[in-house]
Amino acid sequence: MEPSDAREPIDAERGRQLSLFRPLGYQRNSCGYCKSKDGSASYYASSLSVRPAHYEELVNRGWRRSGTLYYKQNLRRSCCPHYTMRLEVSAYKPRRDQRKAINRWNKFILGPEYIRRVAYLCPKTREEKKSRKCNFDLLSAVHGVEYSNVKRPVDPKTKRPLEPAHRFEVNIEGDAVSQAKFDLFLKYQTKIHKEDVSKWQTKDFKRFLCSGLKRTEPNATDGQRRLGSWHQCYRLDGKLIAVAVLDMMPNGVSSVYIFYDPDYEHWEFGKLSAMREIALAVEDGYQYYYMGYYIHSCQKMRYKGSFRPQYILDPESQTWDPLDGALTKALDAKPYVSLSQDRQCADTTKSSASADTETETETEAEAEINDVEVSLFDLHMPGVLTVDEVKRLNLENWALLVHGSFLHMDDLVGWEKMRVDDPQSVKGIIAELAATLGPVVVRNSAVVLFD
Ligand SMILES: [Zn+2]
Repeated sequence: MEPSDAREPIDAERGRQLSLFRPLGYQRNSCGYCKSKDGSASYYASSLSVRPAHYEELVNRGWRRSGTLYYKQNLRRSCCPHYTMRLEVSAYKPRRDQRKAINRWNKFILGPEYIRRVAYLCPKTREEKKSRKCNFDLLSAVHGVEYSNVKRPVDPKTKRPLEPAHRFEVNIEGDAVSQAKFDLFLKYQTKIHKEDVSKWQTKDFKRFLCSGLKRTEPNATDGQRRLGSWHQCYRLDGKLIAVAVLDMMPNGVSSVYIFYDPDYEHWEFGKLSAMREIALAVEDGYQYYYMGYYIHSCQKMRYKGSFRPQYILDPESQTWDPLDGALTKALDAKPYVSLSQDRQCADTTKSSASADTETETETEAEAEINDVEVSLFDLHMPGVLTVDEVKRLNLENWALLVHGSFLHMDDLVGWEKMRVDDPQSVKGIIAELAATLGPVVVRNSAVVLFD
């Protein structure tokens, strides 16, 4: 064991840089997609304090958050596997239906009268008209109709500036709760998700959509990008009509949720907001846009695949594969796909013909396991460290937050004697958390226990 003075001291400054995680453990739950009673299995942790860089690391290991709840699904043991997907924003080309949605919305904002008068007052040159017809410019399509960018020449007829039909404004604000946001959210859940909203109280809404990652304001002088959780608020004639909840990470923008006024449903806010968020990523220099999980069996999710080029996280190797014909075909054939594993299998099959039957027997034996009762390490959950890998992390040095003070794991009474693979022991619980979080986050976090 390393002497205790060899490890990093956890003073207040170091403490502020750490993300905090409370382990909740592995659980089976009902599936929201195929409605099976306990079809989905995930590892859960909760937190009120996660740094955007650490969250990015987690997202790239298959995690996602729902409010203050963080989870990583066991794709091999779930009926509707949740694949992490991301779009490379610099290569994005909007499809025809996407361009149409934004053009339609822009026309509505400006209105026929404004469009007619402005064409008369500030006529476009033939070249301008031609280039507009041939090239779709995402950034100008997204921003052109925001009120501050709308041309308002003085109309000689009225002697007043020409006004668009609607005043449309979009602002990024911190993810604080407000009455207007909560009212809009209730209206959305009732009409769009047909939910009985009597169960939603302000505090639940706050936990779900207003308690995200630690925020950092953008800073032009040191090139610091906006980080953390934000609300992109859409206002029409001064009234809040949509809120997109966004997690900004060092290299990517992650769409958390969008809720909008159901009266505007036919404008396709799903498409409009995705294009606006891609534009934001392009402008501010984030490389990726994460649209949440991709669930191949869910028809409603397929639209996400129409934003291209889209990549899917391989659950085993945690590398990215293009969501193209080959992957789609594999997903059509079976719910759980890991192309890296398929390639490995193909290699072994070449050298030994019996490999296939071996894997099958193994899968059958595993299916018998009651996965909530055994240690996570016996489940071979994809994208999770093995016992040996966890042992190499030197868990005794991991920070522990107990009643507001930082300790190290081996300050716990009996730590030495506990077993890593005993899911009932504190060490076992901590080891499962470490295995799912991965080495980078373990080094930069503290575990919250007994609070
Ligand atoms: Zn399902």
